[in-house]
Amino acid sequence: MRRLCILGSTGSIGTQALEIVRTKKEEFKIIALTANSNVELLIEQAKEFKPSYVVIMDESKKNYLKDKLANLEIEVLTGIEGLEYVSTLKEVDIVLTAVVGMIGLRPTVQAIRSQKRIALANKETMVVAGEIIKKELKEYKAEIIPVDSEHNAIFQALQGNKKDEVARIILTASGGPFRGYKKEDLKDVTPEMAIKHPRWNMGKKISVDSATLMNKALEVIEAHWLFDLDYDKIDVIIHPQSIVHSMVEYIDGSIIAQLGVTDMKLPIKYALEYPKRTDNISDYLDLKAVAKLTFEEADTETFECLKLGYLAGKIGGSMPTVLNAANEEAVKLFLERKISFLEIPKLLQSAIENHKVEHNLTIEKIITIEESTKKYINELIK
Ligand code: NDP
Ligand code: MG
Repeated sequence: MRRLCILGSTGSIGTQALEIVRTKKEEFKIIALTANSNVELLIEQAKEFKPSYVVIMDESKKNYLKDKLANLEIEVLTGIEGLEYVSTLKEVDIVLTAVVGMIGLRPTVQAIRSQKRIALANKETMVVAGEIIKKELKEYKAEIIPVDSEHNAIFQALQGNKKDEVARIILTASGGPFRGYKKEDLKDVTPEMAIKHPRWNMGKKISVDSATLMNKALEVIEAHWLFDLDYDKIDVIIHPQSIVHSMVEYIDGSIIAQLGVTDMKLPIKYALEYPKRTDNISDYLDLKAVAKLTFEEADTETFECLKLGYLAGKIGGSMPTVLNAANEEAVKLFLERKISFLEIPKLLQSAIENHKVEHNLTIEKIITIEESTKKYINELIK
């Protein structure tokens, strides 16, 4: 029996993880569930899965939540302290980090220090604090199994092979809803158009990131830290069908890829069950129905965020934090219709140019840089 804490259980990844638990009841037990403000769904989930703890970030909803769960012997916590607390519980084996944004940083570090397995969906944490996380993992002998489909594919393709025989990894990208568009075509695209992803059904923030290719930029930095590879060994290729989830090329020229249907339940399930494999609960891949797999170069002249990702990653230090924080704020402003789609990369570029890189980061420093970057973005748009 594997005992789970799901940070962000009401989101796209969180609810899919619970679908897995629902069909594999003999394998998993839910110890803690958390949400930001979707209290109704959290109540529903708590009633079904009977965790020992629930956390609601929004403090104003705590009493309501307590009332609704009164007879169930569930402890109700709030805030970042609540998230940190449930990530360190003795009775938890695996922490699935499925919150969105760098709010996941502190609970992830706490989970590592409590030697949990981290099933990592929350890529922003790895982007802003990759160096710290790696040190902590070593010190506390904890492990991360990537949930992000590309990194999960690479993790699978690395099994049984030697790391020093890797020539490069190739991250696949669907290209998002605006693949083939030029800058001219992107001038007036709306949030509704941006969050309609052709292949995956995801949360709003990551959907916008997919549309700008920022998602791939974050994934390049995520891969750099997860697999300990220089940026010149991390390539990106557009693969609109999203069937090949990513690949590893070895020094002898062999490429090992992982293929599957476009269903996040596959990588989530793998991360929760690793090193075991159990029966599929999704569709099977029908290659004849797919018929064709195509690959093309990413258009980084139009989708500049991808270039900015490599740039910030290579500069290192605090620059990925700045890129990520600027992006979190810019996406929020875009979803609120306060800026246009093409202003997103412009704001990110300004944030990078404005920042004097710092090294030897601490969690506190990262959070300070995040706050000042978000402030800077808001001043820029005034
Ligand atoms: P969603 O927006 O669907 O869900 C986010 C979850 O986090 C919800 O439970 C939400 O609660 C909670 N949350 C949001 N903000 C806060 C906050 N400030 N404090 C605490 N909890 C918060 O996101 P996704 O599931 O799409 O993505 C989650 C993470 O996984 C992201 O980092 C994303 O990049 C990554 N990922 C997602 C993929 C996908 O297919 N969706 C694929 C690969 C990676 P509430 O519901 O109350 O708002
Ligand atoms: Mg991904």
